[in-house]
Amino acid sequence: MTWFDIGVNLTNKRFSADLDQVLTRARQNKVCQMLITGTDVQESHSAWQLAKQHQLFSTAGVHPHYAGSVQPDFVDKLRQLAKKPQVRAIGECGLDFNRNFSTREDQLRVFEQQLELAVELQKPVFLHERDAFNEQIAILKRFRPHLAGGVAHCFTGNREQMEAYLDLGLYIGITGWLCDERRATELRQAVAHLPPARMMLETDAPYLAPRHVRPRIERCEPCHLPLIAEELASLTGIPLAQLATSSFTNSQTLFGQEPHDGQS
Ligand SMILES: [Zn+2]
Repeated sequence: MTWFDIGVNLTNKRFSADLDQVLTRARQNKVCQMLITGTDVQESHSAWQLAKQHQLFSTAGVHPHYAGSVQPDFVDKLRQLAKKPQVRAIGECGLDFNRNFSTREDQLRVFEQQLELAVELQKPVFLHERDAFNEQIAILKRFRPHLAGGVAHCFTGNREQMEAYLDLGLYIGITGWLCDERRATELRQAVAHLPPARMMLETDAPYLAPRHVRPRIERCEPCHLPLIAEELASLTGIPLAQLATSSFTNSQTLFGQEPHDGQS
């Protein structure tokens, strides 16, 4: 079994001291491919550099938390980055009305600008959404006919919300959130209805360590991805090997295509 972790925050400073060991442990656990998350222009640049250095993939985008601090030329910067062969998606982008670190107006504007870029470049989108489901779906419906696909990263919602994303042809990213029996009640019921053809797996490392593991995981790493898959297997009744094949194939289909006009 080989695994593809579609959400790793490897530019996080919690990995700066031992990134090589983190990547070695990931490969020992058959986590062979990763998509490094970019959260603003600077981080997206660092993510791309890491991806290039370690033969991985990355995203280029601005997280809604940072929508209020973008520079006027941020779309140009993202466009430049998105042309690098390692950069396989626009994001993470979306709406986060949970903490509202940026105003809703800024979040909506910066999200739409990134969707426009994704359409222009025909790159998939790596979507973040928290407490903004209705607004996010409304915008996505508008863009969907022109988008080259995408994934609802770190999906934590209920069945109805999941099916709305599926209806838009999007993939669903499952993190260690699934392993939290207290907070993930609805998600744990929803995944029983998630078709294997739309599943992707992600650790969101160093965040969202699977909570059911003892001794407790202090810092989530890509090597923990199979633990999330095991939980998903037990909730869905789908054999682990089939989950590995489906999620890897889905991730490779969306993010693994060789870009047409790549430059290094
Ligand atoms: Zn996110």
